[in-house]
Amino acid sequence: MRHVLVTGGAGFIGSHFVKRIIKAEDVTHVIVLDALTYAGHIENLGTAFLSDKLRFVQGNIQDSAVVNALMGAGTTDVVHFAAESHVDRSYHAAAGFLSTNVLGTQILVDAAHRHDIEKFVHVSTDEVYGPLAQGTATEEAPLRPTVPYAVSKAASDLVALGAYQTLGLPVCVTRSSNNYGPYQHPEKIIPLFVTRLLRSLPVTLHDRGQHVRNWLHVEDNCAGIEAVLRHGRPGEIYNLGGGTDLSSKELTGHLLNLCDATWDAVTYIPDRPANDVRYSIDWAKARDQLGYRPQHRLEDGLAETAEWYRRNPDRWAPLAAAGLRTVLSSARPLLAPLEAPRGH
Ligand code: NAD
Repeated sequence: MRHVLVTGGAGFIGSHFVKRIIKAEDVTHVIVLDALTYAGHIENLGTAFLSDKLRFVQGNIQDSAVVNALMGAGTTDVVHFAAESHVDRSYHAAAGFLSTNVLGTQILVDAAHRHDIEKFVHVSTDEVYGPLAQGTATEEAPLRPTVPYAVSKAASDLVALGAYQTLGLPVCVTRSSNNYGPYQHPEKIIPLFVTRLLRSLPVTLHDRGQHVRNWLHVEDNCAGIEAVLRHGRPGEIYNLGGGTDLSSKELTGHLLNLCDATWDAVTYIPDRPANDVRYSIDWAKARDQLGYRPQHRLEDGLAETAEWYRRNPDRWAPLAAAGLRTVLSSARPLLAPLEAPRGH
């Protein structure tokens, strides 16, 4: 019987994971620990929130007392999603990203060790490998993050893996490519563009829109994370890729079609520093050792995603409006993220 603590379970990927894992017969308890920052919403959990198996705790992963209390209450496994996750914000708030992503992870692994957790899955990103003009990064590739978000994730990966080395904590790290799907915050490129195009608002691309990302459906990532939770070898890293490579211009073409908009809606703005030109991971290890295989076709997944935003304006309109208010009240620096996200 598994008793799983999910940090960041009210966020985009974490909530999809909770909805998946709560259906497993051998999972008897799921505790969601989430601070409900601007990025976290209980509504993302849908009917899973009503399950007898679920307990929701609003709290911070840096609160050692809360973390220890939850891990000491029968938790067998930890799946750690909680993070500051938006690249654009990290340019102007790097210290906060380091605090949540690195110190938060340290507090979690210390508590996990204290309470003999059986498996600790640390959820990370392909961005830790940094940009690759050509080729793909295996799990052995060096960490060369550029932007503050990726730097903080690389550091948190090392914190988690260090706990395996020094404490013997059974840690696995997953590094996935860019996720998409329903329930993503409208600051990220796909929901941002869809929610603007649906309202006949313009969208902007950096430079010539040449930056390439691999787009993986969120449910495929969650399937991979569950495979790592169940079968991953402690101390190992697993790349979870296998989505579709698209430049931001190609992605925009798909979204324009899905939203019945034209290229007239698109303007180009100058690129920003360290806008990594391409990420690419080799995911053969997860495929060969864990049987991980993405199931979603990009065309279907994007259509389903755009349709979800079309049908659920009540879910994103308040968030889009809140983002706009933040921009108007505080700052030029925050304006750019709303207008031209970097693809994550
Ligand atoms: P998200 O921003 O949608 O969700 C993050 C969640 O963490 C939110 O619910 C937020 O309230 C919570 N949180 C933030 N700080 C917290 C704290 N101090 N204590 C407790 N909870 C806190 O992010 P996401 O896109 O779902 O990403 C989840 C994880 O997956 C992150 O670790 C991210 O780095 C990683 N990841 C994301 C992607 C992607 O494409 N979105 C790709 C690869 C890896």
